[in-house]
Amino acid sequence: MVNDAKPASYDYRIAFGCWINDMRNSALPLQQWPAPHCDDATVEGVTRTLDVISAAGYGYLDMFGLYATGNYPPDIVSAFTDPERNRRLDLIFTRAADRGIRLCLPLGLMTWGWDRIIVEDPEVRGVDAAGNPHPHAMCGAKEKSWAYIEKLLDTMFARHDFGGVHLESADLGYCSCPQCAGEYGVVGYNARLNARAADYIKAQHPDVLVYTCPISWVPFSLDKGTGRQKTFTAEDLPHVLELSRHIDIFMDQGHHGRYVPWEEVPRLQCAYGTSGGLWAYHGSRQDRLSYFLPYPLRGAAHLRDHHDHGTRACLYYQGPMINPAVEVNSAVAGRVMSEVTRDPKAVLEEVIELYYQPRSTGAGQHLAQVFVDLEEAYFGQWDEQRFHETQNLEMPGEFLVGTLFNTSPDAVTHMGEPYLDAAGRAAYRQGLKAALAALEQLSGQFDDDGRLDRMTRCVAMAHHLLATFMLARGEPWMD
Ligand SMILES: [Zn+2]
Repeated sequence: MVNDAKPASYDYRIAFGCWINDMRNSALPLQQWPAPHCDDATVEGVTRTLDVISAAGYGYLDMFGLYATGNYPPDIVSAFTDPERNRRLDLIFTRAADRGIRLCLPLGLMTWGWDRIIVEDPEVRGVDAAGNPHPHAMCGAKEKSWAYIEKLLDTMFARHDFGGVHLESADLGYCSCPQCAGEYGVVGYNARLNARAADYIKAQHPDVLVYTCPISWVPFSLDKGTGRQKTFTAEDLPHVLELSRHIDIFMDQGHHGRYVPWEEVPRLQCAYGTSGGLWAYHGSRQDRLSYFLPYPLRGAAHLRDHHDHGTRACLYYQGPMINPAVEVNSAVAGRVMSEVTRDPKAVLEEVIELYYQPRSTGAGQHLAQVFVDLEEAYFGQWDEQRFHETQNLEMPGEFLVGTLFNTSPDAVTHMGEPYLDAAGRAAYRQGLKAALAALEQLSGQFDDDGRLDRMTRCVAMAHHLLATFMLARGEPWMD
């Protein structure tokens, strides 16, 4: 009997930049986060990402920082008048369309993008919980704040045929005045902001995907009773359920655990989405070939598990594709999202075949195993209890390769506690060393456009940095 049923898959497979320069293939070592650039290297990085995600079955690319990062001007439209920036962004939109990828409009809803406006037009400035002027948020109770939001949306849509809109209202905080969070509570207020914005977008663009990312609606910390990440309370949930009538996806990303308990997911009137359970955040300062963090198997396992619990959308973080681990993570995840029941190892081998063109089946399988061993060498050292006890946080979710706010090349934070302890570093170092030996043995067996050489550089650099870290800690680091 022919089984022509559609494979179990994610309906919405969205690649997330997440900022436009996080995907660039050359570092900006002194650049404060997030980098505002839109230069040739930005375009090259995005183009390479488009190549990987289109081949892997993603439908969308979502990235912040197209026209501005934190500072839209009060007239909004002058952010769109730089001819060079416009030319480069137009090129990105053309290349996305050529590859069948729709781009999403990033909207900081009252926060992210409004720092200049709240200074130059203090009437729209929100207040923090202590009643002081908010450093980032507009007040959602002011119609003039909505005029800015609507003008930005209108200007963006006039320029480009966006396929989706990413709404994010609390990453940098929110207004706590008596008409905002002071009246409705944090979740109630943010849900209302998102519903109103979604209604405005849908009225004009009914086919555009509208999704909400609720980061910071609930603080990242463990609940004393359950010992797990705090979730929405019984008072919060009705607000989220009401919002779900206005949007297409509630993207409960899960930086340190999710906010919606699995048993509540079927009650949502929209699709439920995550960011796939585990992801590295790359920023733009870190040397692109100085670390190597593959997680194809863990990523696939999370995607399968989340799908089994009703998740049908994913906002999957990307990074600099020149780093072979980033490329493999994205390529495997897209294929798994397109058919979640596939054997992850077989998907990995398919990706290795495509990008490395092994001259023998054995060489391809051996290289796939090197990726698997390196994944285990690093992530196998993570200990859930250590995150709980030392940080009062769930195991990531999201972890940073370096840091966010800084203006010099970062320390390699992912090699310290709580990620790795001394025993973990010792084991990781052995894993890196074993990989270098395997890569030396595999040299010359692929038509891989330099990937094996880049991988070798990444693994060697990771070992250098790890050994230096261990030296500084007084831990044995030599053979
Ligand atoms: Zn307010």
